[in-house]
Amino acid sequence: MEKIYDVIIIGAGPAGMTAAIYASRANLSVLMLEKKFYGGQMQSTGEIENYTGYEEISGPELSEKMFQHSKKFGTEFAFGHITDIKEIDGLKVLTANSKEYVAKTVIIATGTEAKSLGIPGEDKFSSKGVSYCAVCDGAFFRNRKVVVIGGGDSAVEEALYLSNLVEKVIIVHRRDELRAQKILQDRAFAKENIEFVWESVPVEIKGDMKVNAVSVRNLNTNEITDVEADGVFIYIGMNPQTSDFQNLGILDENGYVIADEHLETKLPGVFVAGDVRQKEIRQVVTAASDGAIAAQSAYKYIELS
Ligand code: NAP
Repeated sequence: MEKIYDVIIIGAGPAGMTAAIYASRANLSVLMLEKKFYGGQMQSTGEIENYTGYEEISGPELSEKMFQHSKKFGTEFAFGHITDIKEIDGLKVLTANSKEYVAKTVIIATGTEAKSLGIPGEDKFSSKGVSYCAVCDGAFFRNRKVVVIGGGDSAVEEALYLSNLVEKVIIVHRRDELRAQKILQDRAFAKENIEFVWESVPVEIKGDMKVNAVSVRNLNTNEITDVEADGVFIYIGMNPQTSDFQNLGILDENGYVIADEHLETKLPGVFVAGDVRQKEIRQVVTAASDGAIAAQSAYKYIELS
């Protein structure tokens, strides 16, 4: 007979790890499962300076601190990719590869993953100049030229991180103004080695053995020009990691999980937390907040059932 956990948390980002702290501190038995690495997107974030209590901390360092904290009150941790959740006799049965896990409640905290551009050269030069993670790959481009695609918080924040390593960063954005927070914009405009190519989209990533240019199309003139670069960092937004939960009927049209204010989905005992939830503001601090609420709701659900 499988062990029956009070709570199984799927995903060990800030939402999942905070849910683990709250649930295990409430004396619930908790298993946190992660398919890749704990920390989620924080692991690929250079500096975080808007998580309360830390004026500035690297994403990997905050990941490590949260992970150690999440296990302090007895949460078990395992690697595993959940591909199915079933309701059997009032319990949730989760499948990961050939293994099954059983719990009274589930918290989905699987987060989001980087979108790809889908243009020629993107796959071909993956790890040969194309990257989705400045923290992981930035050092390979020391004193060289890189292009960053996108105009949101991630693109501008990581362009700033890269600008301290590389000779020049060229941000290619499809509009004539950035989407990123004002403070990030101001910093980027003040950096001498960050340049902008406005109202343009990448159409091809070119190279030989490695990337040597990105072809961009100006959206006003349709003119295509090559921007010389040794690396391309793609930050054009995120997709929710919910492809395994499509049959549950809890997703919106964009694949995000719908929940009420207690973060319970329409399936009793199935909760959601973090960026994977349908919501407006996606930050480390809001993910952590979701984790606390979802764990507390799971506790109440168990108490009442
Ligand atoms: P995002 O906010 O969705 O921004 C994506 C950017 O890529 C936008 O500028 C968008 O252009 C552009 N884009 C989208 N599709 C494109 C395409 N096919 N070709 C070219 N450009 C394309 O995504 P994000 O920056 O990854 O941020 C995700 C979430 O995390 C947001 O809620 C963000 O606030 C949050 N976040 C916060 C922080 C922080 O607080 N420090 C850091 C990172 C991320 P348009 O502007 O024209 O739509």
